[in-house]
Parts: sequence; C-alpha cells; structure tokens
Amino acid sequence: MFTSIDPATGQPGASIPELTAAELEEKIARAETAYRAWRTTSLDERTALLERIAEQFDANTRELAEIATREMGKTLKSAIAEVQKCAAAFRHYAQQGPAMLAPTRLDTPTGPAITRWLPLGPVLAVMPWNFPYWQVVRFAAPTILAGNVGLLKHASLTQGCGAAIERTIVAAGAPAGLFQNLAIRSDKVDALIADPRIVAVTLTGSEGAGIKVAEAAGRNLKKVVLELGGSDPFIVMPSADLDEAVKQAVTARVQNSGQSCICGKRMIVHADVYDAFMENFSAAMRAVKAGDPMDAGSDMGPLSSEEQRQTTLDQLAAIQAAGGRLLFGGEALPGKGAYMSAGVLVDVPIDHPAAQEELFGPVAMVFRAADIDAAIALANDVPFGLGSSVWTNDAAERARFERDIEAGMVAVNAMLASTPEAPFGGIKRSGYGRELGPYGLHEFMNLKTVFG
Ligand code: NDP
Repeated sequence: MFTSIDPATGQPGASIPELTAAELEEKIARAETAYRAWRTTSLDERTALLERIAEQFDANTRELAEIATREMGKTLKSAIAEVQKCAAAFRHYAQQGPAMLAPTRLDTPTGPAITRWLPLGPVLAVMPWNFPYWQVVRFAAPTILAGNVGLLKHASLTQGCGAAIERTIVAAGAPAGLFQNLAIRSDKVDALIADPRIVAVTLTGSEGAGIKVAEAAGRNLKKVVLELGGSDPFIVMPSADLDEAVKQAVTARVQNSGQSCICGKRMIVHADVYDAFMENFSAAMRAVKAGDPMDAGSDMGPLSSEEQRQTTLDQLAAIQAAGGRLLFGGEALPGKGAYMSAGVLVDVPIDHPAAQEELFGPVAMVFRAADIDAAIALANDVPFGLGSSVWTNDAAERARFERDIEAGMVAVNAMLASTPEAPFGGIKRSGYGRELGPYGLHEFMNLKTVFG
C-alpha cells in the first residue's frame, strides 16, 4: 500500500494498493495494444482529445489541487495555478502542435526527400512530487500528440495525484491504455526500462535517481531525457531595478517551500548594491509566513515530508559546519507538520561539498560579487546547470550572462518559470534533453527521412 501522509498535519490520508506483478504486466500489454492503434490516428483526433483533457483539468481544478496539497503540502492557491497551467499546456499542444510536426522538404543529389515526425511507442515517465501535475503533464501532452502512449511511475508521496491524472485523461475519452498510472515502487523501474515493449524513459528528480535510470537506459540502448536538480544563481547587478529584484528573489526562493528545481537558490549580488539588497531581502524573507497550505494567507506550506525537512536541516547544518552563517530562519517550526522558516545563509564556502548540493528548502545563500566576472564564476561554480535569473539593464552585461552562464535557461529581469511554449532543461549534472516547446515533443519521436 502507498499511504499518503499529509505533511501539514502528519495524518495519514488515502491508501493506494501497489500493483501486483500480474497487474503491472497487464498494463504494459495494454499500453502496447493502445500504441498500435493510437499511432495511426489523425492529428485531428489527437488534438481533439488534448482539448477535451484540458477541459477536464479545468472542470476539476479544485479537486485536483486539494489532492496535491494534502499529499505534498503546497499551498492550495499554488496547486490551483499548477492545474490551470496543465490545462494551458494541453491546449498549447492541441493548437500549436500540428505545425511542429509538419514534414520538411529537402533536395538531395538523387532527388527530393522529406522528413516526417512519427511516434516511437510506449514511453515511461518517472516523476517527482514537487509539481505533481505539471511535471507529468509536460510529458503527457506531447506524448499524446506524438502518437506515443504514456506509462507513469509517480513518486511514492504523490500516488493520489498519479491516479487522478489517469482518471482525468480517461474522463476526457482517451482510449484504454493511452495513459496509465503504475502504482509501483522505484525498484520496479529497472525491469520496466529493460522491457522491449517500452521504448524510452524520461525522469525528473534527483541526480541519484537520474543516474540509475540513465544506467538502465544505457544498458538497453533506450533514449532517455533527464531533468535533474539545480542550484540556480539569481544575479543582481547595480543597474537592476532593485525593488523588483528583491521581490522576485523572495518568491523564487520560497515558492513551493523552496522545493523547485528552478528556484533561485544562490543570490549573487554585486558589491555596489549588496548592502541595500541584503537589507530589503532579509526583511522580506523574515516576513514569509509558513502556515496551513489551505489558508490563502500562507506564503508557503510545510515541506513535502518530515524526511525532506530533515534532509534540508542536515544540509544546513553541514554548510554551517563548513563556515556558512545562518543569519536567521532555516529552522523546524514547533508543533505538528513538516514546517520550517524561511532563512538566509551568508559566508558559504561554495567549493565545500555541502554547498554544492541542491538545497531543496526555503533558505537562500547570498554571495557578494566584486564584478561581473566574479558573479559569473560563482554562478558556474556548482555541478548543476539548469536555470538562472539575471538582473541588469546594461546591454553588455546581458550579453555576457546570455553567453557565459552555464545553464539551459537564463531569465533576464525576471524570475525563471517554465512555460509550455519554451524548451526546458539543463546541462552539466542537471541532465540532458529538453521538455516543452517543439523540442520536448520531438525528443521521443522518429524523424524519418523518406527519399524519392
Ligand atoms: P527522487 O529523485 O528519489 O524521486 C524522483 C522520482 O524518482 C520518484 O518517482 C522516485 O520514486 C524515483 N526514483 C527514486 N530512486 C529511483 C531509482 N533508483 N530508480 C528509479 N526511480 C527512482 O527524489 P526524492 O523524493 O528522494 O528527493 C531527494 C532530492 O532530490 C531532493 O532533496 C531534491 O534535491 C531532489 N529532487 C529534485 C527534483 C527536481 O525537480 N529536480 C524533484 C524531486 C527531488 P519514489 O518516490 O518511489 O522513490
């Protein structure tokens, strides 16, 4: 049984039985059968289904959002926004997707050729708990449009969300087997990747899980997309709008209780504006209210579990032992629930192993940079390369950041956020491949060249 524990109260919620070996086999067989039919459907049929799925997400927004809040503690208002974003992604692929699949014509010495985008087969998605709908939908929407079928191994914490996604897609009229939730533990993933009926795998989660999945995919010569952790820099230069930078730095760091791969986690501030930034940023971080995620007045809920909070507290202790100074916050709040306070760390020795990890909790590391070279060096001095946010109104500085920051994404004068239109993904130990936009759609497709 998977039994969810509400991290706001510590109380157990719904239980979902783990699949037996026979049930799992039945679902894989169903996926293969569904693929044989779905691969031949017209784009019109696929886009009509995507539109109906979007309607289902819209019609059930509140119910879906409440499941996420109870399972992993995000505020209800952010869960509602997440479900709405899912509906937008299905609509995006319904409306813009067909153009992304248009054949292209080429001339070769022996005559014309065309390239066609064709599906590959059943794709396995191993997904995390932090955005339990959005992470799955950015896989599911392009999968369905491509003519593939999806199998989901959701995080143990968010099995209710996994089941709810399948229900929502089925309620929209999806054929049996098009998208199935597999209530299984991670020890079953290796065998699934080896199964010849599964053609590819995508994972969003930690580096450790990414390595295991990439190893299995490599052994079986299967395509894999990995969206792993990040320790994103948030760089503030003197020409920036400081008030706006401070406001968005706080949101970037405490959104989802600090548990987002593209949270701004390391604030790197030019020496000329460091003191002013710190004064305002510290005041705003102190004012962040951790409380009941169902309450509209809470800025953040608890962390996703007691274990996740303990991991964060242990990381903070290790950074402090290495010389980092916690100015305030970063503490477990007394009473029930996995709550902790927002905090600020300074004097962090960035080359210490503890400071090189992804800090998945609401505590910001703040660094002072003497100039742009120092800021970029600090930004790049971690193993990750997912996102970044840079604040400047100087064209030359902007050009440097765009060129030199080692990351898959740079947001200029804005907090980084994903959107269905734009490719999303990282470099270095943040993984490889892209989700969203046309690139995410193409990752799991066969680009077939037809000569003649
Ligand atoms: P995991 O990476 O363990 O979980 C993500 C998904 O991978 C889950 O479905 C999990 O299943 C599965 N998984 C875990 N181990 C394996 C494995 N060996 N083979 C196949 N699948 C596996 O994240 P955690 O929940 O343990 O969080 C730990 C840390 O990971 C966080 O502190 C954070 O730093 C990072 N993280 C990053 C995320 C991101 O968005 N980049 C999202 C979540 C976590 P199960 O839940 O059943 O173990």
